[in-house]
Amino acid sequence: MRETDNNESKMSREEWDAICEQCGRCCYEKLSYRGKILYTQTPCRHLDTETGLCTIYPERFKLHPECTQLTTELARAGVLPDDCPYVLMFARPGGKGSR
Ligand code: SF4
Ligand code: SF4
Repeated sequence: MRETDNNESKMSREEWDAICEQCGRCCYEKLSYRGKILYTQTPCRHLDTETGLCTIYPERFKLHPECTQLTTELARAGVLPDDCPYVLMFARPGGKGSR
């Protein structure tokens, strides 16, 4: 699920991308249970689990339609790991991008 829609923020694409720590955790399958998002141990088939990088990154939306563009709205939606830097910046009170 890595990267970018920076319509809301004023960051450049490079600045937005640089926030990602490339841990790859958001590229694991998720389940919704009682209003909470639970991460499974199953990675997306396109995730290189050694590097944490997407192997089809430039074409991810075409080749893997389930892949979701990372936006500030998504960071606030509770679907990313709590310590993902996008969450810390955009979803936490006092974060750089908090409202
Ligand atoms: S969880 Fe956050 S830091 Fe990790 S790969 Fe996903 S967007 Fe990047
Ligand atoms: S296609 Fe899979 S590995 Fe690539 S960014 Fe999307 S969820 Fe992650």
